Amino acid sequence: MRGARTFRSAGGTTVGAIFFATVLSLFAANEILKVQGQVSRLPGPGTNLVYRTDSGVTYNLKRTPASEALFVDTNLWPKHLLLAGNLLGNSFEVTGNLRSIKDGKVHELLYYCDVCSVSSSVPGLCVCCREPTVLTERPEHDN
Ligand SMILES: [Zn+2]
Repeated sequence: MRGARTFRSAGGTTVGAIFFATVLSLFAANEILKVQGQVSRLPGPGTNLVYRTDSGVTYNLKRTPASEALFVDTNLWPKHLLLAGNLLGNSFEVTGNLRSIKDGKVHELLYYCDVCSVSSSVPGLCVCCREPTVLTERPEHDN
């Protein structure tokens, strides 16, 4: 009982702090950029990628869960990509789903399992049936 009361009295403060932090992060967050370009690998050990934009600027591609597929699936390297993300100095951090431009249209890049009709943002085995997933480009808008 005493635990419940303590939790409740702390609740107001927590909600206030979360609200304050949200407002702060809205102001502090970098603008999300949508940039077309292509990835290429830097020479040397390990997998280090750069993102070469159509305008000719090159950024280091940050390896995060959102960009992981680009580091492990070389099939993505020749593609004309549309990446959404933040600029952190000379680095580009992908924040959204991976997209490509194909036949002048935006496509979602995903890894699809035909057996289960399950898609994933990273290559590998299906989380459901453990069969290999297939890289799929799906038109973002059917129009
Ligand atoms: Zn499956």
